[in-house]
Amino acid sequence: MNIVSAQSAHWTDEQLIDHLYGIGPVDGHLNQCEHCLSRLSAIESRRQRVLMNEAVSNDFLTAQRRAIYARLSEPHPWWPDLRSRVVPSRRLAAAAAMFAVLLASAAVYQGHRRELAESRADAQLAQDVSQMSSQLESSATAPLQELFVE
Ligand SMILES: [Zn+2]
Repeated sequence: MNIVSAQSAHWTDEQLIDHLYGIGPVDGHLNQCEHCLSRLSAIESRRQRVLMNEAVSNDFLTAQRRAIYARLSEPHPWWPDLRSRVVPSRRLAAAAAMFAVLLASAAVYQGHRRELAESRADAQLAQDVSQMSSQLESSATAPLQELFVE
């Protein structure tokens, strides 16, 4: 590649962005090319806008965090109410837990039964297939086998 043509070629967007971060090409193209200089300023202004948006969103997030902390430090009026409601219904919770255990064990039993039935069906299928293949094999190789009959 010719060095002169490489120098006169415009920088790519990536090269301009690299230049913004101080790692761009050092061929001095920006000193002599208005086109790339204007592209660079456009990229720079866009970057400034993005940075400003980030600052705004950071402020927003900080305010949000403060509001959350303020709410967390507030007393919880619902907490004693919930506790007083939970204590008498402990028996109900125990019954619900028992029901859940029963439901889960029934589901496990059903799954096991289904599995067993499927494995039985699989075994039957395997047996059928092996029987069919042995029948097919014997009919297909019968003429050949007759060749070796003494
Ligand atoms: Zn250029």
